[in-house]
Amino acid sequence: MQVGATMDLLTPPLASITADGLSLVGEVTAEELGLAEDDAIAHGPLAVSLDLTNVEGLVAVTGVLEGTILRECVRCLTQYEDPLAFSVRAAFIPEPKSPPRHPKRVDPRKAREEVVAAEEEEDLDDQYQYQGNFLELAPMLREHVILAAPMQPICSDECLGLCARCGKNLNEGPCQCAAEPPIPIFRVVQGTKRKTGGSSAS
Ligand SMILES: [Zn+2]
Ligand SMILES: [Zn+2]
Repeated sequence: MQVGATMDLLTPPLASITADGLSLVGEVTAEELGLAEDDAIAHGPLAVSLDLTNVEGLVAVTGVLEGTILRECVRCLTQYEDPLAFSVRAAFIPEPKSPPRHPKRVDPRKAREEVVAAEEEEDLDDQYQYQGNFLELAPMLREHVILAAPMQPICSDECLGLCARCGKNLNEGPCQCAAEPPIPIFRVVQGTKRKTGGSSAS
């Protein structure tokens, strides 16, 4: 069953991950990764190919994620297909069995150590925790997809954008504005200059 295969792909049982490694290959949908439309809109399923190794409870995950994401170009505001292919690297560590939550008596020295430990953990942003007998790969893969998004998505380096005047998508051809007189803002600047400076007029 397809569903069963996908479930295993995103939640491999810890017992199946050995020091020799476990290979996971398959496809996942944006929905299965928990991707919201605000995060990224996937065009079709994403191909996942991962290798997992378990060394004394530390599970290292490496692999590749490929797919197509629909993005909106910041210049021309049209949607385009962005082919995605990036490597995945993450480490999973077991979640502490009894995390010391709000201990009643805090030894100041110990508390400081805990703060330092927490800061160190924050630095390792590709480190995740697992609980129980399964790994949850979906949140990790989802983060990778979100982080792969460019700050300024552009459909093409040659994108001409929209005409600032009439709003026409210039990739579809020139608009009529080029044939018209210069843009009004230039005249406004000249007028201001003459008023405040008052020295020379061309
Ligand atoms: Zn564009
Ligand atoms: Zn125009």
